Amino acid sequence: MQIFSLRSPAATAISLSNRALVTAAIPSVAIALALSLPASLHAGETGQSAWGYDGARGPLHWGKLKPEFSLCEKGMSQSPVDLLRAHKTTLNDIQFSYKDAPFHVVNNGHTLQEVEPVSETAKSRYPKHGQTVTHFDKDSTIVFDEDLFLLEQFHFHAPSEHTIDRRHYPLELHLVHHNERHEVAVVAVFMEEGKHNPFFETFLKHAPAKVGEVNDDHNQTVNPITLLPERRAYYLYSGSFTTPPCSEGVSWLVMQDPIEVSAAQIEKFRTLVGHDNVRPTQPLHKRFVLER
Ligand SMILES: [Zn+2]
Repeated sequence: MQIFSLRSPAATAISLSNRALVTAAIPSVAIALALSLPASLHAGETGQSAWGYDGARGPLHWGKLKPEFSLCEKGMSQSPVDLLRAHKTTLNDIQFSYKDAPFHVVNNGHTLQEVEPVSETAKSRYPKHGQTVTHFDKDSTIVFDEDLFLLEQFHFHAPSEHTIDRRHYPLELHLVHHNERHEVAVVAVFMEEGKHNPFFETFLKHAPAKVGEVNDDHNQTVNPITLLPERRAYYLYSGSFTTPPCSEGVSWLVMQDPIEVSAAQIEKFRTLVGHDNVRPTQPLHKRFVLER
């Protein structure tokens, strides 16, 4: 697997064929992918007091709450979606290079979120053109479609936001990354009821129960690689943030295999957040979901 020579002809050719497929299948989405997003738009972080998950501030009303949320209502490439109708194709492996990082868990009222620290190299917050994972050896990165993305934060939703044939999993993990063009790639992992998960337990133990609180624990490190399923096959489509302002141009990489957490852990998460934090699935319009 190519890890360090991102710009090698072989890697480029494979990667371009992926991009060509996506572009050919969904022209309107390709345009959306080319749009860059402002640096401040981090899923789950913006407009905190302005929106919620039920009632008059709930997902059905987001588009009308503020002018800058209008995409939530008018966008044609919104997330989440139902993943049943996926088209088989060839997709490159995602190259994960996640590092241990100190706990910095935030309860932002919408979810529980671990904010990743960034190294000196990455303090601009964006990997630059031509840089590779070796430039970011202290940072958590992925390489996807020839592009280097920096991990910015991860958080959870209950129940899952994406569905398969309309069925939800109890939880869904979102790992939010960005590249030098401020484009966002989110790796999503379904979490099903099963075995106790020690990593998730440590996360829950560090999660503040009160909204607005942060738990910084530099004695304990976290590595989200432990939250990925063994098999890394994934669905790919172009969508949006699932929270206001619902910005589009987000590459969604949804792992096909779920990981397991116990029933008690699902309950604990739900208690800490205090409400469902799920946006209903959105129409695909002209988009296609790809899988390999
Ligand atoms: Zn999310």
